[in-house]
Amino acid sequence: MATQTATPRVKAPRILKVKVAKAVPAHDPIMAEFIEVVKSLRENAFTPAMLKELIEGIKKPYVDEKMLEREKREAAKTKKDMENQRILVAKAQSLCRHTYKNGGEAIATVHNFPDRQTRGQCNLCRCWIEPAHYEIGFDQIPRLVPEHPLYQRVRQIEAETSWQLVG
Ligand SMILES: [Zn+2]
Repeated sequence: MATQTATPRVKAPRILKVKVAKAVPAHDPIMAEFIEVVKSLRENAFTPAMLKELIEGIKKPYVDEKMLEREKREAAKTKKDMENQRILVAKAQSLCRHTYKNGGEAIATVHNFPDRQTRGQCNLCRCWIEPAHYEIGFDQIPRLVPEHPLYQRVRQIEAETSWQLVG
């Protein structure tokens, strides 16, 4: 009840402005009850401000706090998993000898690049071996990427097998 008294008194909508006759017989209990009902309706009527507030509340998009929390947790877990995966791959590549068990070369050469420079890729650890080249970053500034430490080996493989490509 305390909350009802705290709400501001706003002019009642026109529909509730029922004129009650002044000369109401005091002994008429039905009429007295009717007056009470009308008074109550006037006091508890939905004002335009209250209706507006109600409609705005309905129009607000539904936000599921638990779902947002879950999405945040899952995103953090995905990031952590990706980082772990990156560390594992880097470790595997650093430990790889890039040769098969029988001593054969596991690095395969790749030639179809527009700069005509050969790339290499290990068939075991999938490490990508590139020569020194320029890369254009998101800021459109070309930057020189240094040669991969294993590129000398790609050069060697290329020199050993180039006779197969000629003729
Ligand atoms: Zn390898």
